[in-house]
Amino acid sequence: MKLVFLGPPGAGKGTIAALAREHYRIPHISTGELFRAHIKGHTPLGLEVEAILGRGDLVPDDITVEMVRTRLCEADARSGFILDGFPRTIAQADALDQMVRLDKVVNFVLDEEVIIARLSGRRVCPVTGKIYHLTNNPPKIDGVDDETGEPLIQRDDDRPEAIHNRLEVYQRQTFPLIEYYRTRSLVVDIDASPTPPEVFASLEVVLGR
Ligand code: AMP
Repeated sequence: MKLVFLGPPGAGKGTIAALAREHYRIPHISTGELFRAHIKGHTPLGLEVEAILGRGDLVPDDITVEMVRTRLCEADARSGFILDGFPRTIAQADALDQMVRLDKVVNFVLDEEVIIARLSGRRVCPVTGKIYHLTNNPPKIDGVDDETGEPLIQRDDDRPEAIHNRLEVYQRQTFPLIEYYRTRSLVVDIDASPTPPEVFASLEVVLGR
């Protein structure tokens, strides 16, 4: 199954993709995670994109498309994948169209006030990438990862100024993709407001078990 998860930042795409990856046995390819791994590893690409991610702007299309093209050529992505956070522009969607034939585009629908609450309360384990929320999904012990004991961090782009910018970028650049894929009859909408298990259950309904 070749899937794109579309929706605003904070809609829970990464959380649901982590559940879907196990269930459908397909890789979860998050362009945000790939960029963050480059930044953490101090690679040339990481150095190039670090400030862009910190501001919540988009990395240029050519760089992003090449990174995805390389990733999709890996053996585990041959029979299926979940693309999370890609495409984010029409140019990226056109490029993806040349690479693969998608089965579905899952559109995560969520109100802006809920998005802001989710993003500002989000914390992550810097080692495993596991996602928590201060009130909705807190760790067992305040401020540290359940498994590694590592202090949780707030992503730079989950700070208020960057959140505002990311939502604006989403509306302007990514929102038009819903229509782009609707005209191709690929979109299924799911309500992203309930808990992750409930959202995952509705995903199973639209995708089949
Ligand atoms: P995410 O983890 O999906 O919220 O992505 C974090 C950041 O990575 C975004 O705010 C962008 O700076 C960058 N990024 C991720 N995916 C893309 C993409 N498809 N195109 C351009 N920039 C991206």
